[in-house]
Amino acid sequence: MKNQINLLNQLQELVLTRDEHHATGDGSHMEALDKAIDDLVDRLQPEIRSLYMRLYKKDHIVMAPMNNGCCAICGMRLPISQVQAVKLCKQLQNCPSCARMLFDEEDEAPRWIGEKASRTEPRKSGVGRFSAEELMIPDLQSTDTEGAIRELAEAMESSHFVSSADALVSGALKRESILSTALGDGIAFPHVRGVEGGGLTLALGISKKGFVFDDSGEKVNIVFFSAIPTAVSAFYLRLIKCLSESFAKEENRKALIAAKTKTELWKALTKATRHSIQ
Ligand SMILES: [Zn+2]
Repeated sequence: MKNQINLLNQLQELVLTRDEHHATGDGSHMEALDKAIDDLVDRLQPEIRSLYMRLYKKDHIVMAPMNNGCCAICGMRLPISQVQAVKLCKQLQNCPSCARMLFDEEDEAPRWIGEKASRTEPRKSGVGRFSAEELMIPDLQSTDTEGAIRELAEAMESSHFVSSADALVSGALKRESILSTALGDGIAFPHVRGVEGGGLTLALGISKKGFVFDDSGEKVNIVFFSAIPTAVSAFYLRLIKCLSESFAKEENRKALIAAKTKTELWKALTKATRHSIQ
């Protein structure tokens, strides 16, 4: 069963990558992604395949990580016997509420460890809902993709937003290997999905000189790095659309690149997104 769960998770990541490419890319990789998806579907056992198809018709998120004994997608608390069964992984388990296929996350998987919103402080708005000044890096030291992602992942870990920077880096590189997240204008959106336990986290790094991000030789100056709970995948798509639109304007990109300190970078990001991200 473990092998089928792994296939299903790979399949879901491919489908969500295709959704991203459809929403934000130029469509040039659609055919290759379709083919990779069909190949994986063929490797599912027949009864799991038909269940997959049924769930997929309703929603592209068919897999539900188990988080603290709950379905991480719909939030339903699972019966203790089912929690055990999901851990044992002998038989496929479906969430009693949303019917998605449940799986137990690896122990070393990165997790959201941020502070829960305080009841007494005013609610944050705009980009401040999922990012913060301490997640800004105005001058990335690295001159390659892995190094830049590592600096951003370490900022998330050291400012207590997400655990396991190492696991974040390997997750993000795995995602890059499916399809580059450089989307033009010198901006890339590397990300890791399946970071459960809380909300989305967004870090921003600027390389003043720029570096080659992927095999196509595309040069990147601006790196938005996100750790995403599976349940907010659709919101993430809207977020990268907003960010790419805001930073399609050259003056907004220049303001990010000119920022010398974390505070200046945070101000430039907040200012450029104040209308697009509510
Ligand atoms: Zn559920």
